[in-house]
Amino acid sequence: MKNLARLRSFIQDVTRLVERHGADEQRMLDEGEKLLRGLITADDWLPEEFARPSPEGYRQYLLHCDPMERFSVVSFVWMPGQRTPIHDHTVWGLVGVMRGEETCEEYSTALAATGSHPVRRGEVDRVSPRIGDVHVVANDGKDVAVSIHVYGANIGAVRRHTYDPATGAPLSFVSGYANVTVPNLWDRSR
Ligand code: FE
Repeated sequence: MKNLARLRSFIQDVTRLVERHGADEQRMLDEGEKLLRGLITADDWLPEEFARPSPEGYRQYLLHCDPMERFSVVSFVWMPGQRTPIHDHTVWGLVGVMRGEETCEEYSTALAATGSHPVRRGEVDRVSPRIGDVHVVANDGKDVAVSIHVYGANIGAVRRHTYDPATGAPLSFVSGYANVTVPNLWDRSR
């Protein structure tokens, strides 16, 4: 039995945070990171169907979307060697690695890679248009990687961009989600 209560409390905490400080991005990132670190350290709550990799490409599963779409919580699952295209977000985001290890490659513009750093298990990375919003996330490790992301919007519905690595040309996209149902956080009988 998965300890879904952890996800429920996390969502309640982020909801309280967004109600109080939703307009203050710095505060959302700082306090959101603390909450996310707690969630990814306790790796006993993510139902298996939201941690399932696919040989066709990395997967993003919606775990929760705030009813007012002020934030969303998503699990990302990468098999070894899988990577995102160069992409932006247009909203703030936190990336917390819960299993395996990921590599984050930052871009100042679509064609200018400015560096790359590992994000190890238990660590949290940040993006936003203010602090740097264009990156690639890759699993260069040997094991499946799972990260939990929190975004300042319903990220699956946000129109944003991928960038052609050869020309830098932006391509508009809406990522959507791989799942059609979300975890049932509300059955307290079990
Ligand atoms: Fe990203």
